[in-house]
Amino acid sequence: MQLTEDWKDIKEVAIFGFGRISQGNIDLFMDLLNVTDIIDNNLNYTGQKYRSVSIKTFEQYIAEAKKEKIVVLSGKKVYSSILKELCKYGYKEYQDFCHMTVFFEDWFGRLNKKICLGRTIVSLTTFCTLNCKNCNMLTPYNKQKRTYDLELLKQDVQLLLSNVDFLSNFVIVGGEPLLYKELPEYIEYLGSNYKFKIGNIQIITNGMLIPSKELMTAMKKYNVEIRISDYTNAVDYNEKMNQLKNTLDKNEIKWISFMQDEWLDFGFPEERIDMGDDRESLRDHMLACQPMCPILHDGKIYYCTSAWSAEESGLYELEPDDVFDLRTIQKEEDRKELLSFYMGNMPKGYISFCKVCRGFDEKLQRLIPGAIQY
Ligand code: SF4
Ligand code: SF4
Repeated sequence: MQLTEDWKDIKEVAIFGFGRISQGNIDLFMDLLNVTDIIDNNLNYTGQKYRSVSIKTFEQYIAEAKKEKIVVLSGKKVYSSILKELCKYGYKEYQDFCHMTVFFEDWFGRLNKKICLGRTIVSLTTFCTLNCKNCNMLTPYNKQKRTYDLELLKQDVQLLLSNVDFLSNFVIVGGEPLLYKELPEYIEYLGSNYKFKIGNIQIITNGMLIPSKELMTAMKKYNVEIRISDYTNAVDYNEKMNQLKNTLDKNEIKWISFMQDEWLDFGFPEERIDMGDDRESLRDHMLACQPMCPILHDGKIYYCTSAWSAEESGLYELEPDDVFDLRTIQKEEDRKELLSFYMGNMPKGYISFCKVCRGFDEKLQRLIPGAIQY
């Protein structure tokens, strides 16, 4: 136990960080606690609001002499620089602030005896309307594309949510999830059975397809958010994209769109990446990557969607301890093991696929144009 006892009854926190990792987890904090401030020194965010909370720089934040505890939502590497900055101003780690992984384990798990998960992904189909060369789901390389059985997808959700108390952000992806004919029924299942256990349901689409009336009704009923990955600078489908946005507006479906002009090249499978066999350096590599994209599939939690895709495409065989089998949960200790695995504490300290994948590790980053077609 690292957090001081006075964390137990907190009702409000400030969040430090509004980058990729924060955006996948912040909803959990906003659903369960009063988030008073979002701190991020990236000036692109300053002055904006997320769910009515202002985003400010650390300088602006300390000028207000606020006293609430701070949870840092970032990768481990960024955390060490934030830690230095906070300590410089007299904040004490575990007393005044902590990293989100400590918060998940100590505050939820130990102090409040709850198992709460952040962003969790589910893929409905590996078919897509595009064929992007560096797709994280390995679409062009997957020669055994599948559309998953609705009943099995429901069973997976039931298995996971019978073992966790809250899931902040349930992200539905593909390939292209709007290709999935039974999507309205799936959303109805999630919404009608788990609306108190799931904070936010999102669908990630490339914006090429228009949802059916039935899907629109289900999305509206359960306040599902559409996240559009906009690849129109690489592929010409502006007309479809505008049609989608207009339709969503007309049906009062909330949506957000991100232009995706720049991607990271993870290397696999075209390039032979070899990160060696040293346990410590592989652990460092995985922590520096910190993908925060666990995926639920076939009764198991995979720590990383890229690793799942590699196995699902038949291109890589994961090792048994790379995944957490939800069917093995029998007692409270096993639920804690699940949370620990979810936070990146697996038996080896890393997953085997990290050996052949660059991931988001900053020191290996290779930027490439987004959505180049294969
Ligand atoms: S749109 Fe491109 S990146 Fe997204 S799943 Fe399809 S092929 Fe992959
Ligand atoms: S390095 Fe690759 S396999 Fe490892 S966690 Fe990151 S994205 Fe996943």
